[in-house]
Amino acid sequence: MNIDQKYIQDKFIEYCEVDTRSYFESETVPTSVGQAELLQLLKQELLELGLSQISYSPKDAYLLGKIPATTSKKVTAIGFVAHVDTADYNSKNIKVRVHKNYDGRDIRLDKSHVLSSKQFPSLKKVIGHTLLTASGDTLLGADDKAGIAGALGMAKYLLSHPEIEHGDIWLAFGPDEEIGKGAARFDVKRFPVEFAYTLDNGDIGDIAYETFNAASATVTFAGTVVHPGEAYGLMVNAGLMANEFIAALPKDFVPEKSKGYDGFYLVTDFSGNVDQAMVNLIIRSFDTEDFLARKQFLKTLANKINAKYGKGRVKIEMRDQYKSPGDLIKQNPYVVNLVHHAYKQLNITAKHIPFRGGTDGDFISEKGIPTPNLFNGGANFHGPYEYVTIENMAKLSEVLVEISKLHVHLNDCRDETPLKR
Ligand SMILES: [Zn+2]
Repeated sequence: MNIDQKYIQDKFIEYCEVDTRSYFESETVPTSVGQAELLQLLKQELLELGLSQISYSPKDAYLLGKIPATTSKKVTAIGFVAHVDTADYNSKNIKVRVHKNYDGRDIRLDKSHVLSSKQFPSLKKVIGHTLLTASGDTLLGADDKAGIAGALGMAKYLLSHPEIEHGDIWLAFGPDEEIGKGAARFDVKRFPVEFAYTLDNGDIGDIAYETFNAASATVTFAGTVVHPGEAYGLMVNAGLMANEFIAALPKDFVPEKSKGYDGFYLVTDFSGNVDQAMVNLIIRSFDTEDFLARKQFLKTLANKINAKYGKGRVKIEMRDQYKSPGDLIKQNPYVVNLVHHAYKQLNITAKHIPFRGGTDGDFISEKGIPTPNLFNGGANFHGPYEYVTIENMAKLSEVLVEISKLHVHLNDCRDETPLKR
């Protein structure tokens, strides 16, 4: 497949150099002007490539465009999603450096940053590639501009090969993923697809259809203050109640002892005195049932402390943050099996990975469109050692072309083999 690598490289560098960091505190949509700027550049690009039904909505700041179907067969529309914002790390004056034919040796990015395969062994997988890095104390922005560049590479290829049969393919570029606000706002009525894929992080061959289910809890404790000299039988110490609560949490269900499909409770902060105390924590779990049980455990624990010290001493408030798309995607296994078939065609080994965080796909799936995550081919995201290669982004384009082609043939005889971890 002849993906235009020069095009991918040029677009990637152009987009990385736009400062698109997102800001949680900002009330605007998108949360920074840089993101709006990049979305305008992308709109121009979709026009030049020849996509149709290009639209941008200031309400959700999603840019959409369609590669129209080339087949007369009845086939459902599919979508690919990438985000324009970057994480909370320096993103000013990003200068992309191009290392042709990377030889595996250390790369000095600036006085204080050296990119070394001793520290980052995954670099050994890209020896011989054209490696792209930042140049010191900024991130690169491969998360997720590599996803954008890969999607554009696919679009350019399909639009210049009308003989290749495919159904309608929608691209969606959105803001504010890193702060969990972008896809939450996304009006998916604008995105008429049966299912979609995010192209966010991950290595070639990854498929993530399960993420954390996430909630946060605020637990407050009300004490009774009495002069310590006269406190016998009267004082109730809120700080000690909070301590009792924390001490009763399971010792092994913590981030530092959790990997793969394990979840955790994380006490993020606590404060208190005799009069009142507060504990904030977050809950993470891959399985819906376990997630509900973990939330219930906290409520039960609060009830126990209330039973001991008196009703109303402990109050617990929980907020759901995001939900794993796992259940929805397990009901639609074709969405993942189609990717397996595409990887097989391209000799890529597929790997189901637990995504230990949230994705845009969590929000989009919750709105009814099954959306697992694939990959963008970069590594070391959110910091100065971030990198990606042209070859990896071109591989992403190939995967997207293959998925689009195969969907035409497999749509009618769907592989519904149940998904296994
Ligand atoms: Zn990302």
